[in-house]
Amino acid sequence: MGSRRDFLKKLAVSTVSLPILGYSGNIENYFSTYENAPLLRVAIMGLGNYGTRVANAMESCKRAKLVGVISGTPSKIVAWQSKYGIPDKNCYNYENFDNIKNNPDIDAVYVITPNGLHHNHVIRVAKAGKHVICEKPMAINAREGEEMVKVCKDEGVKLLVGYRMHFEPRTLEVVDMRRNGELGKIMFFQGLSGFRIGNPNQWRLDKELAGGGAMMDIGIYSINGARYMVGEEPIWVTAQETKTDPVKFKEGVDETIQFQMGFPNGAVASCLSTYSMNNLDRFYLNGDKGFAEMQPSTGYGPIQGRTNKGPLTAPIVTHQTVQMDAMAGIILNGEKPPIPVDGEEGLKDLKIIDAIYKAVKTDGSVKV
Ligand code: NAD
Repeated sequence: MGSRRDFLKKLAVSTVSLPILGYSGNIENYFSTYENAPLLRVAIMGLGNYGTRVANAMESCKRAKLVGVISGTPSKIVAWQSKYGIPDKNCYNYENFDNIKNNPDIDAVYVITPNGLHHNHVIRVAKAGKHVICEKPMAINAREGEEMVKVCKDEGVKLLVGYRMHFEPRTLEVVDMRRNGELGKIMFFQGLSGFRIGNPNQWRLDKELAGGGAMMDIGIYSINGARYMVGEEPIWVTAQETKTDPVKFKEGVDETIQFQMGFPNGAVASCLSTYSMNNLDRFYLNGDKGFAEMQPSTGYGPIQGRTNKGPLTAPIVTHQTVQMDAMAGIILNGEKPPIPVDGEEGLKDLKIIDAIYKAVKTDGSVKV
């Protein structure tokens, strides 16, 4: 692994000519230069906190460019137009964005609205003939997710989920060690995902818009992380819910859920998803030849961690910059990502979330 300076230099300097084929287990090659690569022209839908973070990160992208916005707030549109140089013809609201189908200057829409709206928004974008990137969770249940995957397939557009960790170099450092057999047979994963949620009136605590509670928002990181860390799909889940504040966390909005997952090779995962505790962002992976621990493991970074061989050393990057450049390659060149980010991948997490909610209700083991 080269130094961070070498890596960043490689990111900046152009060495064109070879086609970029996607991830082949070498982090530095994967993030090598993108000069002359086609540009993915993106409109962001939902100009909230995360949309703003993505837009800022995209300013450093080499293969993706923010060219349009979809928002219900005219003042935000004006502010974004002036900040990012977005022309009037690329600005839409929630009533008229189906017209994007007549706009040849937009290739893809990044849906960054509340979870409960993803299904409708993604399907409308797909029917307008544009590729879709959708934030996590892709939808609020597997039934919705299946429909989204089908519509995107029928319309011939790509559906990707904003799983930024699937491109994060230190995460890939651990995943590569596991794939290379350096950790041996994987026996155990622990994922702790949580934060103390504030304002009780926000959409994250509204069942309709959030689709649930902490599990939909933050617990999904432990589910998704367990899958890419262990490298298998769980076959069963068990789960237990704890609620200390039923006024803030109403019916259908989970505050804390502990859950366990069993994998075909015998590995088990033990995870915690909560809206009531801070400083919970930790992964631990144990195999019969080694271990990896990461904390923070999914926050915006820098990701920190160590394995039995020493500290993680892969470069620190802005997650959303690397994600959007990689997604441009997936959409425009059919490149293979290090860990899948397509609609099927989003659907796998939704099926597990459905099973966890069912396990809470039935107090038993649920097959995935
Ligand atoms: P936010 O509340 O800051 O932004 C949501 C945006 O959607 C706002 O601009 C709001 O005006 C708009 N919106 C449109 N219709 C709405 C409606 N009916 N009700 C409420 N808002 C509406 O939320 P956020 O933190 O930006 O989260 C948006 C999405 O991004 C969520 O799906 C969330 O899970 C995801 N997210 C992902 C990450 C990540 O790291 N991948 C981080 C944060 C959020």
